[in-house]
Amino acid sequence: MSFIEIRSVAKAYGSVRVLDDVDLTIEHGEFVVFVGPSGCGKSTLLRMVSGLETISAGTIAIDGEVVNDLEPAARGVSMVFQSYALYPHMTTAGNVSFGLRMAHTPRPVIAESVRKVAEILRLGSLIDRRPSQLSGGQKQRVAIGRAIVREPRLFLFDEPLSNLDAELRVQMRAELTDLHRRLGTTMIYVTHDQVEAMTLADTMVVMNGGRIQQAGAPLTLYDDPDNLFVAGFVGSPKMNFLPAATTSLTPDGVHLGHVAGVGEAFLPLAGLEAPSTTVTIGMRPEHLRILAAGETGSGLVLEGRVLLVEELGSESFVHMELTDGTRIIVRSGRRAAAAQAHLRVEADLAAALLFDEKDQRLRGAGRGR
Ligand code: ADP
Ligand code: MG
Repeated sequence: MSFIEIRSVAKAYGSVRVLDDVDLTIEHGEFVVFVGPSGCGKSTLLRMVSGLETISAGTIAIDGEVVNDLEPAARGVSMVFQSYALYPHMTTAGNVSFGLRMAHTPRPVIAESVRKVAEILRLGSLIDRRPSQLSGGQKQRVAIGRAIVREPRLFLFDEPLSNLDAELRVQMRAELTDLHRRLGTTMIYVTHDQVEAMTLADTMVVMNGGRIQQAGAPLTLYDDPDNLFVAGFVGSPKMNFLPAATTSLTPDGVHLGHVAGVGEAFLPLAGLEAPSTTVTIGMRPEHLRILAAGETGSGLVLEGRVLLVEELGSESFVHMELTDGTRIIVRSGRRAAAAQAHLRVEADLAAALLFDEKDQRLRGAGRGR
């Protein structure tokens, strides 16, 4: 038995289906991140786990108990939202201890709980301040403190860092990772930001259109996506996609024709079974290499014009338009190219992925790809 078992869950508002066929298993102590574009159903699913939203079909079980009809307060979960929702007239100590005071917890117990939480979240010097005297990051720490003090068996976070500036977000991510390591409590975290998801998650659950597209370790999703959506969503800058057509199949791979900006190519995907006629080749920016003048290159050579170069210091991203108009991004070293330059780029075909006309991954036999 796993800690959380979500089975065939669906949610509909009247005739509008917002979640369909959701199946997910979460182990004790896991840090799980739901990630996907705005409106894909992340918050709805989280709220169904918390009890703030009813379940239209299927079951959700926590620690072996189906909680479909259990009140939110009886589920043993604590939730932290994007809006801090602190009481403005109460101090940090007052906000953190509010739930315990409502439950008539004895004073010494409250004092000890607040002390422990203040230590965990480094709130000591802020303990007597009101929310108006705190920065955004500090307010969010108080909101997290209020969740921790209840000692829930499960933490739910809905985009808690979205209101913070970029630097503070990075810092708070590190704090959350550290907090999770120290508490060991299961956490489910919602974000639309795939970089945030990659850095926080043990398991990343990529959602789109009310369905789970794929769940797995961040790097597994990065290296081995099941479909075109996951391939394009995970990774920044995005994976490059080239439309192509299958011309023939051999035991060692597939011959492709009409490859955007290239013509023909052979993809070494051994043991591929009957691919569709139209396919898409996926290549990460780091699997492309700019060829020096006069260098021939082998395999798949793309040709085009440089539109823009993003110089990031340690690396640069070269945005190109291929001869047929397809746009790609190549990861390169410093000062790799100048705008308007005409370049040839070689692809590492051993790392290229292939997708069928229904955007599903085509895997060869024997190897991961
Ligand atoms: P996310 O958190 O991924 O951005 P939500 O879970 O908030 O997405 O919403 C998923 C979908 O459900 C959206 O299309 C949204 O418009 C719809 N939705 C959310 N709440 C309601 C509601 N009370 N009535 C009708 N549709 C809703
Ligand atoms: Mg949401």
